[in-house]
Amino acid sequence: MGYNRCMNAEIISPPALATVRPLTARVQKPPVGLLDLNLSELREWFRERGHPEYRATQVWKAVYRDLVAGPEHITTLPKTLRELLAEQLPMPRLKPIRTWDADGGETRKALFQLHDGKAVESVLMRYEDGRATVCVSSQAGCAMGCVFCATGLGGFDRNLSTGEILGQILYFARELKTTGRKLTNIVYMGMGEPLANPRAVWRSIESLHEPQGMDFSPRRITVSTVGLVPQIRKFAEHELPVNLAISLHAPDDELRSRLMPVNDRWPISELIEAVREHTERSGRRVSFEYALIADSNSSVEHARALGRLLHGMLCHVNLIPLNNVPGSPLKPPTAEEIRAFRDEVARAGVPCTVRLERGADILAACGQLRIEHTKAS
Ligand code: SAH
Ligand code: SF4
Repeated sequence: MGYNRCMNAEIISPPALATVRPLTARVQKPPVGLLDLNLSELREWFRERGHPEYRATQVWKAVYRDLVAGPEHITTLPKTLRELLAEQLPMPRLKPIRTWDADGGETRKALFQLHDGKAVESVLMRYEDGRATVCVSSQAGCAMGCVFCATGLGGFDRNLSTGEILGQILYFARELKTTGRKLTNIVYMGMGEPLANPRAVWRSIESLHEPQGMDFSPRRITVSTVGLVPQIRKFAEHELPVNLAISLHAPDDELRSRLMPVNDRWPISELIEAVREHTERSGRRVSFEYALIADSNSSVEHARALGRLLHGMLCHVNLIPLNNVPGSPLKPPTAEEIRAFRDEVARAGVPCTVRLERGADILAACGQLRIEHTKAS
């Protein structure tokens, strides 16, 4: 298992400026660009080059509020500065190599190719009430190996940089802008395990929240985790009130370990204790994700055990009928079984809803498009 590699990573200490200058020696790292810097680092960047700091605010507003696609469009800057930015601090060219539409165009999925040829996917979901949610990837691939997940089956490539995470979000924010709409919610539920890449994830959230730019409310951001207990504990220390979702998928250790190898390292009791501490400290409701798999975790007995496990917690359960993964024998249960499961959990006094999977007809489950793309190329 590769999930130990990032376990001790620092959460949010800002990088020394040396680490945000171009790194020519480290071939695997994406080149550092404009989206990797926070506002104070950008001010420093201008100051170091003998330019006034207010230039940083102009750039920040153009990128995160006016949603320009590149420095050449920042008309508040003199041409020489636009050229300097384009040359020394480019915005990542996160262009989709393919897009798929579903739900009558309300769901759009994009597969982005990164600078080193790796591919990640993001999804935009538009709702009739005006909400628009982007589901973003935090890693290329994933090391956690959950058996029902296309990303897990495809293996781990690397962490995404802050700029690569923000690039996915800005791409869809720009697309929405063309139809006069705004992004209202962001979920870190695409490819990868966000808490195994906590530094880039938190830095992206801080940049989104920066009042001079998008001023995006952390209450409209959700980070989903497979259950990395030490990182869940650190999550609670962060002052921004970001929502936490926990992928639980089983009410007992024997079954959860079969579905999710991470459970051998942090069993359910430790996970629940860390989540309970988090809710007590933050006063915020946590979501538990539970993918319903036929003949596996979806019996009425499992529902009862889940109800007992979560009874009294400040939480909500999202039931997700399993998305079929090509090549996997696992299937979702029948609609009747799903209803019975939901009713049994609700009977225990645990709030519980069935989440309708958007875009099932475009292979929406996590990581599937990348696999399709790899097969095709
Ligand atoms: N790594 C993080 C976030 C990305 S996965 C996590 O595991 O929480 C986002 C959600 O999709 C998780 O709850 C995950 O368990 C779920 N998921 C993965 N594959 C799925 C599938 N085939 N059907 C339904 N849900 C799936
Ligand atoms: Fe990774 Fe989440 Fe998929 Fe598990 S469900 S393999 S943690 S992306």
